[in-house]
Amino acid sequence: MPEKPGSYEIKIEGIVQGVGFRPYIYRLAMQYNLKGWVLNSSSGVFIAAEGEKEPLQAFLQQLRQYPPSLAVIKSLTVQEVEERGYTEFIIKTSDDRQGKTALLSPDIAICDDCKTEVRDSLDRRFEYPFTNCTNCGPRYTIIKDVPYDRAMTTMDGFPMCPRCKAEYENPLHRRFHAQPNCCPVCGPHTWVVDRNGEMVRQDIRQLLKAGYIVAIKGLGGFHLAADAANRQAVTSLRQRKKRDRKPFAVMVRDMETAHRYCVISQEEEKWLNTRSAPIVVLEEQKDTALPGEVIHPGLDTLGVMLPYTPLHYLLFDDELEILIMTSANISDEPLITDNDEALQKLAEIADYFLLHNRDIYNPCDDSVIRITALQTPQIFRRARGMVPGGIVIPADSPTVLATGGEMKNTFCITRNGEAFLSQHWGDLNHFNNYVNFQKGIKYFKKMLNVEPQTIVHDLHPNYQTSHWARQQKDVKRLEVQHHHAHMASVMAENGLQGEVLGLICDGTGWGTDAAIWGGEIMRGDYNGFTRLAHLKYMPLPGGDITAGKPYRMAMVYLYQALGEAGLDKTKSLLPDLTEQEKNLIVNRINNAREPLTSSCGRLFDAVGAILGICTINKYEGQAPAELEARADKYEKNHYEYHLEADDGVWLMDVLPMWRELLNDLQKGGRVGCIAQKFHLTLAEMFLETLLKLRDTTGLNRVVLSGGVFHNQILFIKMYELLTRQGFVVYYNQIVPPGDGGISLGQAIIASEVKG
Ligand code: ZN
Ligand code: ZN
Ligand code: FE
Repeated sequence: MPEKPGSYEIKIEGIVQGVGFRPYIYRLAMQYNLKGWVLNSSSGVFIAAEGEKEPLQAFLQQLRQYPPSLAVIKSLTVQEVEERGYTEFIIKTSDDRQGKTALLSPDIAICDDCKTEVRDSLDRRFEYPFTNCTNCGPRYTIIKDVPYDRAMTTMDGFPMCPRCKAEYENPLHRRFHAQPNCCPVCGPHTWVVDRNGEMVRQDIRQLLKAGYIVAIKGLGGFHLAADAANRQAVTSLRQRKKRDRKPFAVMVRDMETAHRYCVISQEEEKWLNTRSAPIVVLEEQKDTALPGEVIHPGLDTLGVMLPYTPLHYLLFDDELEILIMTSANISDEPLITDNDEALQKLAEIADYFLLHNRDIYNPCDDSVIRITALQTPQIFRRARGMVPGGIVIPADSPTVLATGGEMKNTFCITRNGEAFLSQHWGDLNHFNNYVNFQKGIKYFKKMLNVEPQTIVHDLHPNYQTSHWARQQKDVKRLEVQHHHAHMASVMAENGLQGEVLGLICDGTGWGTDAAIWGGEIMRGDYNGFTRLAHLKYMPLPGGDITAGKPYRMAMVYLYQALGEAGLDKTKSLLPDLTEQEKNLIVNRINNAREPLTSSCGRLFDAVGAILGICTINKYEGQAPAELEARADKYEKNHYEYHLEADDGVWLMDVLPMWRELLNDLQKGGRVGCIAQKFHLTLAEMFLETLLKLRDTTGLNRVVLSGGVFHNQILFIKMYELLTRQGFVVYYNQIVPPGDGGISLGQAIIASEVKG
């Protein structure tokens, strides 16, 4: 006697769109001979399943234990319902009546099956650059609206041909309900033009091999590409792009090639191969044939990614294995995504253009990460392949919009215990970045179907984000101190509650006393903070001007440490400093109305300038990066520093270090050793201060954040010293420790703040 049949209704929430959920359910239902339907709605996947009790249970168990590999299930609820007597199992068309709460999928790197097809001369997708399937392909960058369906993407102008349609409708096919499914007959195509926009019939690989610079329209925007092994090509790219020192990233043919150029750990290999396919910053092998000093001047690391779309995969062959792939934008402006704009703006840089006719709806730069010595990821830029993935946060409170920082801006919107960060918009002082930031907020609100009740912004009165926030009507507004937000970003990632000590090593952030903070130790939780220690204030003559000119900061330190004697040394040590500029700075310092700073980034700048490593900043964070590269890891000593208590706040004073450091320099000490001793001085000074603060506060958890922690020497040394002393140490792994991560901190503070 067969058992009485059962009938279930199942609701699944999480990342369930664009991951092949419906075909998976369909196949499973076939396997267990179940009747009913599956529906992909913007609030999740709904299933009605009827059948024998045992197969039904097996179906549920399969679903729970082995969901589609790209899916992230947040919740799965099962309800037993009255039998409806379905006679077949069908896939219902998308339904948009439900509340829009589904999560969007980030773009996914090309899968192995699709790679095989595009290399198979007998396959109908042979060398077709837009090949994709339910396991891979464009998502976020092409999605205009929810629910995720072809009509809601930039593929809406490409009706499927009969063969593609048959795949799309065949539940047993890998492309069943793959929304961007297409082929050479029905899908987008590429073409090549010269800088005048004239069509050329040349193979793009031949052009690259011949040393030309090619602008390539990819997934989230344009890249400028050149053969990285060709010194001439890389040099002219650097000259034409006027990108004096900022390192270029490369794309390599495959993992084997990556190993030939870089030292790669298991963890790094794992990240190179993930579906997000980020740029991974790796240690370069010694003696490669690459023109390293042109690709990454002053650094010993190489940013590497693997091809993540068929278009990129097809750029390589036996003779072409490594390409410079640098974002195509003009001096900090947004990434270029449009064919005409590319032709117009890049005509002076690129010789040729590889264009295509699939529109990029959401511009998205490549993500950049580095694996630390702790084998943990550290994110520089969280963008393509990661956005708009949600981050689980402890708070489950009303929706908040956090507007982030000024540089490397990201914003963040929370919904139901999750935080959704945008991609990086860059420096919001550029008008077009600011426009994109505002468009992005509109888009996220629409996709998440929320209207934030609180808007958070930085305490800085003149950040674009602060201006924007003040203009918004009918919402609560909350200001959050920059370094409190950095600290909270780590707490949010780690689900920390209660008070912690925060060591924030940063460039600039507006303090509650209107000084520029950046070398801070605070105690606090989501509700507030108390500043317990900071780098002793230094004048910051001219404010932001000095931030871009480390030699000026070096002069300030020399003058503060040695007085007039320090000024005498500037001629030999700081050749970039003119006599006139020197007098101007001295005047400004003495008139005592200049801004003050406790910035750790500015201290790195000053040391970098004195050592002749970098006297002018060509990109943010250059000094900490180049000092790290030059430091001699075998040096174990550090310089003197001084701690003094001032009204309950510890002042961490590095002026004693400057005297010793200059001595070393004058005795002809090696720059690498001095650089390392400087790093160790900071680490020892922060440790001693934290030990004192542990005694007085009883707090034993330390949070490390701030952009200076991209410096691996300081980060690892700090971690080691603190854990050796029994501290429990937390740091950023999901969002950047730099300003790209502060929107998360702002959001959690606003979510948790009481009253
Ligand atoms: Zn695929
Ligand atoms: Zn087709
Ligand atoms: Fe910051």
